[in-house]
Amino acid sequence: MEEPMRRLLIPLVALALFFGLFAQTGRAQRRREPKWDRYDTKHYKILHSCSKIEASYLGDWMEFVHKAYSVIIKVKSDTKHVIKLFRDRREWNECGQPPGAGAYYTLHTKQLVGYYDRRAVFPYFAHEGTHQFIHIAVPDMPRLIPTWFNEGLADCMGSSKVINKKFRWCLFNALIAKGRSYTIKKALREGTARKLTDLFALTHRQFMGDAKLHYAQSWSMVHFLFCYPHVELPKKWIPNGKYKKAIVVYFDLLRKGTPHAEAWNEALGTIGKTHEEIEKEWKEYVLNTLPDTGPSDDDAYMGVRTQESKRGGMEVVSVVPGGPAEQAGFQVGDRIVYFEKKKIRNYDIFIAELKKRKPGDEIKVTVVRGRKTERLKLVLGRRGDYDKKEEEKKKKKG
Ligand SMILES: [Zn+2]
Repeated sequence: MEEPMRRLLIPLVALALFFGLFAQTGRAQRRREPKWDRYDTKHYKILHSCSKIEASYLGDWMEFVHKAYSVIIKVKSDTKHVIKLFRDRREWNECGQPPGAGAYYTLHTKQLVGYYDRRAVFPYFAHEGTHQFIHIAVPDMPRLIPTWFNEGLADCMGSSKVINKKFRWCLFNALIAKGRSYTIKKALREGTARKLTDLFALTHRQFMGDAKLHYAQSWSMVHFLFCYPHVELPKKWIPNGKYKKAIVVYFDLLRKGTPHAEAWNEALGTIGKTHEEIEKEWKEYVLNTLPDTGPSDDDAYMGVRTQESKRGGMEVVSVVPGGPAEQAGFQVGDRIVYFEKKKIRNYDIFIAELKKRKPGDEIKVTVVRGRKTERLKLVLGRRGDYDKKEEEKKKKKG
């Protein structure tokens, strides 16, 4: 199903977060900055080159998120958190920002940096904002807070939405969570997931060595601790699972400098569980309780990476070599505007239309290329076939 999800999610999130925590000064110096306008909220100072209304959308959102952060982490700070918000992806690239990232957090400046995108800006800033928030609460964060916990918590925060005017977080059916859920379920079924105690002990470098799996496993563990035995609570905005207390105790001990293994043991003690019991419950929860929401092998597959265009439609950012879209003649920069007679106004419509189709279906897609309009005949592939090919390619590269 969700072609752009995997394509967008994995590179953007994984890379963003990598840059996120450990971007160095040297790299930042080569970057240019646009002329900033300033927009203030209660807790954030937003320097932006996008429109004021866009900055205010993010500002409102971050105030919601800030409230959620404050539930678990107590911070005493009078200074506002700084956000730098570029106008769009184009400006982001022109200014020499990391091309694969959607947002990141820098330790040395304590700034949250990203670009405006109607769909991705909210989850990504909620994720990266978690690092910023933790860092302000725990100045020695890189040494004291294990990567699995930092990233797992950030992904739970990033998996949030405003539903009926209420901010809801730790959702399973959200942009970040859907991709993570697919990855960890697959890993558990295939027996490639890590033992939890091994995951907890990974250094940042080790964590990034198999980022896709480790992000997914960490997200699932923090989600489990927040929500178990439910998937999410329909009425409350704060998840209130049986083991939530373990998170609070664990974090509190970590910030005081307790070694992580000791902190975890003590946290388990407060909920009266052993490692083995928790590991077993977590596995069952992921496999049997979390619904399947992410992509599956039998989804129709197009083989493009896309983003919403401000002129309407979906702009092709990259084309997978040998994939269905390449065979149909798609090019980078094409703007997809119609699937048959259905107008593709935005991402949601694009995904909904793609989901209606099966592998092997043939559809006529209208794209705007420069000043011309082209109609391309696309035969959709099957996701599982292409995933396998990609994995084999990776193995060959070694
Ligand atoms: Zn992160």
